[in-house]
Amino acid sequence: MPSPSDFRRAFNLSEGAHLGLQKQWEIESVHMGHEVVQQNERYEFPTTLTVQFRAGTKAVGSKGLSQRKQQLEKAFNQATQLEHIVYSAYGSPYECTYGPPQVAGIDAGGRSFKLTAVGMAVRRRDIPTLAAQVDAEQKAKGHGQEAVSAADRAQYLRRYRVTKSRWSSGRCETCHQAIAPGSQIAKADGEEARGHWSHAACIVRRLKGEEQQQQQQQSDGIGEEPTQRGPQARFSGSAASGRKRSRFADSKAGPAGVADGVRGVVTRRRAAAAQ
Ligand SMILES: [Zn+2]
Repeated sequence: MPSPSDFRRAFNLSEGAHLGLQKQWEIESVHMGHEVVQQNERYEFPTTLTVQFRAGTKAVGSKGLSQRKQQLEKAFNQATQLEHIVYSAYGSPYECTYGPPQVAGIDAGGRSFKLTAVGMAVRRRDIPTLAAQVDAEQKAKGHGQEAVSAADRAQYLRRYRVTKSRWSSGRCETCHQAIAPGSQIAKADGEEARGHWSHAACIVRRLKGEEQQQQQQQSDGIGEEPTQRGPQARFSGSAASGRKRSRFADSKAGPAGVADGVRGVVTRRRAAAAQ
């Protein structure tokens, strides 16, 4: 459950806060309860405000009084028309809204009013919890910084220059995250080494993924003619059917060819080499 004080702050319903476009209303006191409608799913916040009219001191008659009530209702609706996401102490997100207010005059002159309304908090399962968000952030930050094992390096990075980044060297060409100093980085070696650096781990991850995809396609019995379906281009048809597909690391248009990062292009190139 969002705490009542967080709920109140989300809508800026604090003592001394103003309502109305001309700030003609001032909140003098706030009382906010909380009720469990359904544990961890739905809560209500019955709210009582006393509000002072600040744009004049002249007493009004009964007609003016009902006009002011309407104006205060409108000002409250404006202040609460947007929904807010408020997090519980455990970091769970709740969508917070207010129902329509009821206004009663406290004094006969139309200066002091009591406003009651019910706030509602409904758990949003589609929004990640704060813990999940922090987790994702940390993952993104640490992305690509894991060291590559010797076995992976021998198998996948034979034709790559591998080194440690000694300064903050721009962005990884593969994952597009910043490369932090101390990260293991790699780029294609030899004549095709015109690409930029990637995290070594990102290259290995990509090559492994491509290998898996190939194995999947082979076991699906799908041939090798490329279709142009963009980055996820799959093979179909029979351009080189019957020929055993070489492993990416050994193929002519292997990792170095992939280093330009456009998989659709690489797919076509590889098929051409196969023919
Ligand atoms: Zn990367």
